[in-house]
Amino acid sequence: MFSKSTLQKVRNGIFKRKILQVEIENQLLERMKVNQVTTEEAKIIWQGSCPCGAEQSLLKGPRGGLSINVKCEECGQSFNIPPMPWLPEKLN
Ligand SMILES: [Zn+2]
Repeated sequence: MFSKSTLQKVRNGIFKRKILQVEIENQLLERMKVNQVTTEEAKIIWQGSCPCGAEQSLLKGPRGGLSINVKCEECGQSFNIPPMPWLPEKLN
């Protein structure tokens, strides 16, 4: 049998780890939100143009699985375009 204080220490450890895990998940979610384009921007990108206003400016880059990377030759912004209905993401 474990002593009460040992159990308490283990519980505290698990609790602290849980909090850390939630914090990391929140940070990842925030980052995803920042990188994701709006539905309006996505429609422009799906047509091969860039939200910066340049038309048909997206150059196709390397393919990663089902998604494709493109880069705007006008403003230099890169996007990762997954299959629909997922929204494209801005790459830094
Ligand atoms: Zn652009």
